[in-house]
Amino acid sequence: MARFSITTAIDYTNGVIHIGHAYQKIVADVLYRFHKQVGDEAYFLTGTDEHGITNAQAAAKEGLEPRQFVDKISSLDKKEIESIGINPDRFIRTTDEDHKKIVAEFYMKSFNNGDIYKGSYEGLYCAGCESYKTLSELVDGACPLHPTRTIEKISEENYFFRWSKYKDFLRELIDTNPNFIQPEQRRKDMIGFLDSGLEDIAISRPKQKLSWGIPVPNDDSHVIYVWFDALINYVTGLKDMWPASLHLVGKDITRWHTLLWPAMLKSAGYEIPRAVYSHGFMNLNGQKISKSLGNVISPSELASRYGSDATRYYFFRYGPWVEDVDVSLEKIDAAYQSDLANGLGNLASRLTTMAEKEGLTGLNKDLVTVSDEYKDYMTELKIVEATESTWSKIKDCDRTINETELWKKTGEEKETTLNKLLNTLLVIANETKPILPISSQKIIDAITGEKIVKIEPLFPRI
Ligand SMILES: [Zn+2]
Repeated sequence: MARFSITTAIDYTNGVIHIGHAYQKIVADVLYRFHKQVGDEAYFLTGTDEHGITNAQAAAKEGLEPRQFVDKISSLDKKEIESIGINPDRFIRTTDEDHKKIVAEFYMKSFNNGDIYKGSYEGLYCAGCESYKTLSELVDGACPLHPTRTIEKISEENYFFRWSKYKDFLRELIDTNPNFIQPEQRRKDMIGFLDSGLEDIAISRPKQKLSWGIPVPNDDSHVIYVWFDALINYVTGLKDMWPASLHLVGKDITRWHTLLWPAMLKSAGYEIPRAVYSHGFMNLNGQKISKSLGNVISPSELASRYGSDATRYYFFRYGPWVEDVDVSLEKIDAAYQSDLANGLGNLASRLTTMAEKEGLTGLNKDLVTVSDEYKDYMTELKIVEATESTWSKIKDCDRTINETELWKKTGEEKETTLNKLLNTLLVIANETKPILPISSQKIIDAITGEKIVKIEPLFPRI
């Protein structure tokens, strides 16, 4: 039995997640369900990143203690993902006790390996990113990701991680594992970044500047911040499923996951994850999705309009897997109509209606699982191709029904063709099950009972 452990980035608890955050979790959940379906031992980890200035500031704004505030946001985030059928094996919170313990242990392992030292730092700091910026990273004096925030000039004592020491290690890791960073363009970007040189990185802040965090274990006047807390959630959360088979991340944090994280792990003596996949960004009606622009759509809103299955389907198939994409309700409506209502839903309805009328016996559900083509695509993370290959089977079935005018046929000829199509429908339902768990199960139930029964419309008009 193969092992498959998948993680997503954890979300800041300065606000409730929107569909832009949920995209990654949908893909992770589909891959997780797929691996379980084909018999792997699978584990899915997601959660919330609760320490740091951004979270503390958001709490203060609402007049709450950080802990009260992150409790609230974290539970709302959890409800959001549950509304689209996502139930990870663990929803980790960086305020969890076991995580704090692992971070302290990790830090000391790295410290004892000579990779953490005290230094002073003077630099430009973006509180939104919670990281220092170089002048060349700024656009018009502002952080491109947080254009409304003021860049602070900071000078303070920090503990540093000896990142520069791991340059050759990282280069070899990337060179000898061509799949470690995917897709290819991101891999090239990271090689370019690595070649431009690595500087040691500050991993603590003085307690009087940042109190909401995990104390540095051997100096409680300092607090561990950002990556040396957040990244370690994967080790805490996966436990004996470490190393991760796959970290799913957005392209903005590829660098931390593919260059900093392996260096930290090597330093502390842990195994390196097998792969990091970095996807693109999603816009809504041509704009960045953001609270300040007021164009945020939540997963639960989409689920109440389209249903949880259809919401998962749209983003899995049309989301920013490689390139950035622009999303709109019109586009989701159109895909709902063509791919689901008129596609899968209509096919299931036509075939089960005819089969019920003919009194056909149900299929053996253990007989068929998924096609090799689909399985290979999913295993290779070609998720769009995988979905397209399933939908081309739907089209083929429709074509056969229309070309043979199956509804006019009778007797053995009708039964043989119908049985063949129903077997393909069972393959289709198995292949769509990770994406459309509810609807696919309805199809499977309708065609694998004692007698085949007509299915109610799966995707009603909206
Ligand atoms: Zn920023």
